[in-house]
Amino acid sequence: METQTEESSIANDKPPGCCQELKAWRFELRNSIKDIEDLVKIFPLDVEEIKCLSAVVKIYPIKITPYYFSLIDKDNPDDPIAKQCIPSPKEKDLYFNAQDDPLGEEKDTIMPGLMHRYPDRALVTLTNMCPVYCRHCTRKREWQKGSWNRQDEELDKIYKYIQDHREIRDVILSGGDPLILSTGKLENILRNLREIQHVEIIRIGTRCPVVLPQRIDEELVFTLKKYRPIWINTHFNHPNEITPESTQACDRILCAGIPVNNQTVLLRGINDEVETMTRLCQGLLKVGVRPYYLFHCDPVNGTGHLRTSIDKGLEIIKGMRGFTSGLAVPTYVVDGLDGQGKVPLQPDYLISREDNYCTLRGYRGEVFRYYYPEDKKHENRYYL
Ligand SMILES: *Cc1c(COP(=O)(O)O)cnc(C)c1O
Ligand code: SF4
Repeated sequence: METQTEESSIANDKPPGCCQELKAWRFELRNSIKDIEDLVKIFPLDVEEIKCLSAVVKIYPIKITPYYFSLIDKDNPDDPIAKQCIPSPKEKDLYFNAQDDPLGEEKDTIMPGLMHRYPDRALVTLTNMCPVYCRHCTRKREWQKGSWNRQDEELDKIYKYIQDHREIRDVILSGGDPLILSTGKLENILRNLREIQHVEIIRIGTRCPVVLPQRIDEELVFTLKKYRPIWINTHFNHPNEITPESTQACDRILCAGIPVNNQTVLLRGINDEVETMTRLCQGLLKVGVRPYYLFHCDPVNGTGHLRTSIDKGLEIIKGMRGFTSGLAVPTYVVDGLDGQGKVPLQPDYLISREDNYCTLRGYRGEVFRYYYPEDKKHENRYYL
């Protein structure tokens, strides 16, 4: 792992046949807000706040693209975009049980850049850089290591491991944001993974459609298309993020035959209401994106102020299931501590089980009996 600045990765980006003119997404990255001095020029902060936030960003850096910043309504003190990207003094507070790596990701890391926690899929981290540093990020611990991209020697070892483990049929490219790499570097990685026969699908986890939609340009989509089946998981958290720009980014990916799913994080004061979550998920379906997971916010240091109770998540699912398209309802998951894995949570629709019937609750709240087929009386008690 070699430290590398973003500027040097920019200098290396000369895709074949591409004009030298700065691409729109490179322009966005270059003009990003990268420290509190940049921020105060365009965002109202008083002297105390400046002092406090300058200390916060020494631990948890700031980065916001001009595009994402433009979505903030500066007159709204509770703006859901601002809360996701403008640092808060509360990031320095200590919270009960919070850790840097509560999910035990380091423990499940087989070698630098490769996590193999579930039987048939592996997660590969390609960089720790992102176009925007989300204040709720689960991998905030990575921000303290300086910027890095996975090096070729490390990647070679990762390909070898996947090659040797025939059970891995699903490879997830993650980070950081893998789409911050140049298209050339990405293509190289995709080509190497595709050479492994048993890798059936490649997934890319990226927030670019939401925070840097300019990244989803024709050149990128043309490249990704060649390595299908690819699935993209993106990360919309609020309906205000569904804009003409992000809609176009998703549409380009979809038109290339690449399905787009969404992973939302449940965030206090941002999307922790049934109405907001419903509007987000219905809005996603309108742009062709399927809500996949609603993640409970992990107990990560520096994110405690954005966490809700688990009851909040269950209340949101209860308020959506049955009341809107089933396609709009994500699976609510809590990621277990120390590598226990994702645990799906559902409101209690199954109230009790008897010998020949169970008691269920419908989405409107009525409780009713549901009888088992008579002759299957005992076989149906498989839970007990
Ligand atoms: C979430 C996750 C996956 C993918 O899980 P799915 O349920 O298949 O989306 C894989 N590896 C790790 C380490 C994960 O955290
Ligand atoms: S895009 Fe994902 S990895 Fe990057 S800062 Fe946001 S939550 Fe973290």
